[in-house]
This record gives sequence, structure tokens and C-alpha cells, in this order.
Amino acid sequence: MNETTGKVNLLGLTQPQLEAFFEQIGEKRFRAGQVMKWIHHFGVDDFDAMTNIGKALREKLKARAEIRGPEIVSEDISSDGTRKWVVRVASGSCVETVYIPQGGRGTLCVSSQAGCALDCSFCSTGKQGFNSNLTAAEVIGQVWIANKSFGTVPAKIDRAITNVVMMGMGEPLLNFDNVVAAMQIMMDDLGYGISKRKVTLSTSGVVPMIDELAKVIDVSLALSLHAPNDELRNELVPINRKYPLEVLLAACQRYISRLGEKRVLTIEYTLLRGVNDQPEHAAQMIELLADIPCKINLIPFNPFPHSGYERPSNNAIRRFQDILHKAGHNVTVRTTRGEDIDAACGQLVGQVLDRTRRSERYIAVRQLQAEPAGTPGLERS
Ligand code: SAH
Ligand code: SF4
Repeated sequence: MNETTGKVNLLGLTQPQLEAFFEQIGEKRFRAGQVMKWIHHFGVDDFDAMTNIGKALREKLKARAEIRGPEIVSEDISSDGTRKWVVRVASGSCVETVYIPQGGRGTLCVSSQAGCALDCSFCSTGKQGFNSNLTAAEVIGQVWIANKSFGTVPAKIDRAITNVVMMGMGEPLLNFDNVVAAMQIMMDDLGYGISKRKVTLSTSGVVPMIDELAKVIDVSLALSLHAPNDELRNELVPINRKYPLEVLLAACQRYISRLGEKRVLTIEYTLLRGVNDQPEHAAQMIELLADIPCKINLIPFNPFPHSGYERPSNNAIRRFQDILHKAGHNVTVRTTRGEDIDAACGQLVGQVLDRTRRSERYIAVRQLQAEPAGTPGLERS
């Protein structure tokens, strides 16, 4: 329910939720399917455009409901075809969504939170602290906006977005219900009809929520590993102190084995020069992942000001990849896309209204980047 308008936002409702809504207002459940198609296949936000719905019901809907995506602040297109949107969410913060075309695929990288509380040492989102969870409408709204921008309606027939990865800003498992609802809409034929294999949730390792996820959905899972031993991972990914590697990998095993059908875990590993990119790290990784069906995605560190880290040389990246490859692993190196529009992994900064630092203020990250570390950024008031 929107606190200002008192209306229910239908954009973030799953099919069963929308059916319940229609029942509550004394209408037939099948209306849910009709309305979902208008919203997600045709990108409609105006009830009057829904031509198979009679005027009386349209008026009733207008009085009680709305279809409201997050506000688009900017849309940039990179020279390599990558697109980036900055959208403002209800909390006032901005988050980013990135579209990456590659061969016949189009992958949309979606944010789940404004900021992130987990504070991984090499992540610019983490450096902003946590501000807010996105609503289900704000999560699926990023897909809705991107899809509309291609003008490819109905979405299901001429697909610009073939894959969705929950790899934007935030830790999706810490915004569980909203992210699950949004992923359900992504996979629903009345929504975007994307196959469960092509919707991927990436987590830094919130173990209890991995088990919860297994109970409700069967999307693909990616784990942000980044270190092959607890000592180093404690430093890079602080949530490891709570859920160390042994329990984390066991939870991932449970999740993957339940999916069956030869589905594997994706391991994301950001390579940091001199920190986790040495042959000994690759060797430890081989041992650690020996029993886990997985594919490995190496992400050369994307620098941001004052991070204190550097990207390894191409030779070091290739050497690391070779060691894993020779041990029989399927290893890819993520190429950096959309660098000219700051759309690469770990460069998604948005503009997070920072609640974790005592006074409320905007951390104007772009400004922060141009100034010495510790500069407080724009004051909000
Ligand atoms: N919070 C989730 C989802 C974010 S996914 C998670 O951590 O898995 C974004 C991926 O990019 C993660 O694997 C993250 O660790 C990685 N990443 C973050 N900052 C990066 C940077 N500066 N360079 C390269 N990869 C980075
Ligand atoms: Fe949060 Fe993921 Fe960044 Fe870690 S890498 S701070 S979990 S967004």
C-alpha cells in the first residue's frame, strides 16, 4: 500500500497475490492474468489502456490501485551496447540497473537494496552502508523499465532480456520476501517467462537464507567466494566470520543438489592484486571446491577511488585461470563491460541515503570519488 496515495501497487504482486487482490475487491480471480499481461508483457501503467477490461472495473481499479515503477533518474548507453539506469526508490536513495548484451543473450543485472550492510572490503556498494530494502515493485520494476526501453512488447515474444542476475546493489538474501516475489514474476509466463536456469541470485553467504530459498524457489545460485580460506575471507567478506566456509559450502551443496538436472553453483571470485590472486590461492580453491559441481567466474577487480585494491595484471589473471582449468574446472573471466558509463561490477554506487552513519545525509558518491577519502559528501539538509 502506498502511504501517500493509499493505493495498492499492482506491479510487485505475484499471480497468487494479484488473484487475492481481485477476490478482496469482489472480482473474479482470472482478472489477475489479464492485468499481469498488460503490466509485464505490454509495459502498461494506465488502467484505461487495458482494453479487455470493462469501464466499470477500470474505474474501480483506478480508485484502489496503481502501477508504479521506480522513478528513472537517468539512462545511459555505453559504446559497447551496455545500458545503465539509475532509478530512485521510495526511501529517496538511488540504485542502478545494468543491461549487458552479449551474443544472443541479454543479461539484466538487478539491484535488491539501496546500499548494503555487509561491507565487503572491495565493494563500493558496501562502502556506502545500508539504506533500505527495495520493495517487490522496485525490484521487478527494474525489469519492467528495462524491458519497456527496448520497445520489445510483448516481452515474451521478442526478448531483449534473456537472463536476470541479482548481482546489482545489495545482498538479495537480506531482502528475502521482496526478492523472491520479484523473481517469481520474472519466471511467470504472465510476467517475463524467463526460465529458472536463467534467473540467478548471487549471495555473499547468508547461510540460513540459502536454506530458506531452497524451500520456495529453484532459481540458479551464485556464491561470491573471493577467498579460498577462512582467514582471508574473514577479511574480504566479513559475513564469513558468522558463516565460515565449511557451513557455507555445505548450504550451497544442499541448494544445488536439490535442483538436480545437472545444475551447478556459480562461483564468483573477484581477483585482487597480491591479495587473493596467487597460485597458492588457486590451489586452495581447487581443494575447497573438489566435491562441488560448479563453474567459476573470475572477476578482475574494478577499481574505485580509495579502495586500496588493484586489479591484477592480465598475466596473473590468465595464470590463475589456467591453474583452475587444468584441474578440470570450467572457468571464465568476466570481461568488463560498460566501463565508460561506470556500469561494471562493483562500480554500482547509486546515491544512497546513508542511515548507518549517525546523521542522515546523502553520500554523493560521484562527488566523493572526486575528493579525498573521508569527505562527507553532500549534506541533505
Ligand atoms: N551482494 C551480492 C550481490 C552483489 S553481486 C553478492 O555479494 O554476491 C556483485 C558481484 O560483484 C559480487 O560477486 C561482488 O562481490 C562483486 N564485486 C563487488 N565489488 C567489486 C569490484 N569492485 N570489482 C569486481 N567485483 C566486485
Ligand atoms: Fe554487499 Fe555484495 Fe557488496 Fe558484499 S559484495 S558489500 S554483500 S553488495
